[in-house]
Amino acid sequence: MSEIAADPSHPRYQSLLMRHRLEVAEEKGMLAGSALIAHGRGEAFDYLLGEQTIPSALAATQQALALLCSATHPVISVNGNVVALAGKEILHLAQKLNCPVEINIFYRTPERMKALLQHLNEIKQQEAIDVEILGAKPNARIPGLEGPRANCTKEGILDSDVILVPLEDGDRCEALVSMGKTVLVIDLNPLSRTAQMASVTMVDELSRVIVNMNAHLDSGQQVVENKKYSNNETIQRALQHIAAYLQS
Ligand code: ATP
Repeated sequence: MSEIAADPSHPRYQSLLMRHRLEVAEEKGMLAGSALIAHGRGEAFDYLLGEQTIPSALAATQQALALLCSATHPVISVNGNVVALAGKEILHLAQKLNCPVEINIFYRTPERMKALLQHLNEIKQQEAIDVEILGAKPNARIPGLEGPRANCTKEGILDSDVILVPLEDGDRCEALVSMGKTVLVIDLNPLSRTAQMASVTMVDELSRVIVNMNAHLDSGQQVVENKKYSNNETIQRALQHIAAYLQS
């Protein structure tokens, strides 16, 4: 790691740390060609949010957690960036929720799948985590999508009722919602199609969200679903936060 990235007192430490994780993942062959561009788009929005968890995002995170805890078949769907940025935290969350993690990547190659599986299995071993990792052998398809990006597993995504899918693509998010699933997304861009389409949108940085979820579960505090939750309001509050930040 570069000297700057290794120094926690650096004002951009977290951001540099995330970039470093992506560099390492890139070297291991875990990422698609567009991964760094997607991350850059996220960074730009994070800057506008003040690189912090805003109150509406925290409320959305608690709502998402409540829905995951009360789900019959919850699943966490991950892509290369998610594994690179928060693989360890995701596996800990899956263990606490007692749900599988499914690797579901847009640009699927055997080499990338192998690298991602290897990375997650290494973490599982190091952390003594017992979580099922699906996705190596897709045996089902998401209706309404063409080509390999429709592939998924029956025991994971297809049969899930609640799916946490950080950094989803707009089309796939729409297809999952059309299947009647409760789709929980993490997206720093409140204007993306994914953010607008999901059941619950956490407008926050992915690793912060997963850390918050784990901390909430560890605290032993109850997670209660807000029956009056409005995702439209969550998005509006994020946009208002950005507008206020720009005017300040
Ligand atoms: P959509 O199809 O939903 O309109 P998009 O085409 O704008 O999405 P992609 O390029 O597919 O977006 O994916 C990048 C998305 O992920 C962006 O919206 C970006 O803000 C978000 N993003 C990137 N990195 C992170 C991160 N670490 N945490 C949260 N969101 C992130």
